[in-house]
Amino acid sequence: MSRAAHLKYDDFVTSGVMLIIPSNISSAMLEHVKADFPFECCGLLAGKGDAVSHIYRMSNTDKSKVTYLMDPAEQMRVFKEMRSLELELKAIYHSHPNHPAWPSRTDIELAYYPEAVYIIISINDSRETEVGSFRIINKEITVEDIDLQ
Ligand SMILES: [Zn+2]
Repeated sequence: MSRAAHLKYDDFVTSGVMLIIPSNISSAMLEHVKADFPFECCGLLAGKGDAVSHIYRMSNTDKSKVTYLMDPAEQMRVFKEMRSLELELKAIYHSHPNHPAWPSRTDIELAYYPEAVYIIISINDSRETEVGSFRIINKEITVEDIDLQ
């Protein structure tokens, strides 16, 4: 995980293209975050090119306030459906109840998808939300802007 390797990937991937998340998807994502509060929720966004078209609410098998773990069988089913619809995995989202919208040590350790944007939604007791979006590659975090419509 040298700095040089990271920068090389970054130059290749970002190239000024921003992921577009339409309003129906972003409101579904925020609804999920609020519905599962005070537990962490998790889900996947899929689409083509720079546009997200599908949201998959996933079960957090940890049922925890500080971690999430997707159900592997459910994840397999969703990946299979994405393949059959010719969709690409665009983003992985999860919530941080009463924690900042910034990747935790566990989030960095378990970031297995360099092709995906990691979206973290912070939510507090007043149900106020804040969205952070990142690439996490070789344990290095880069802030990546998304177009949340
Ligand atoms: Zn997290």
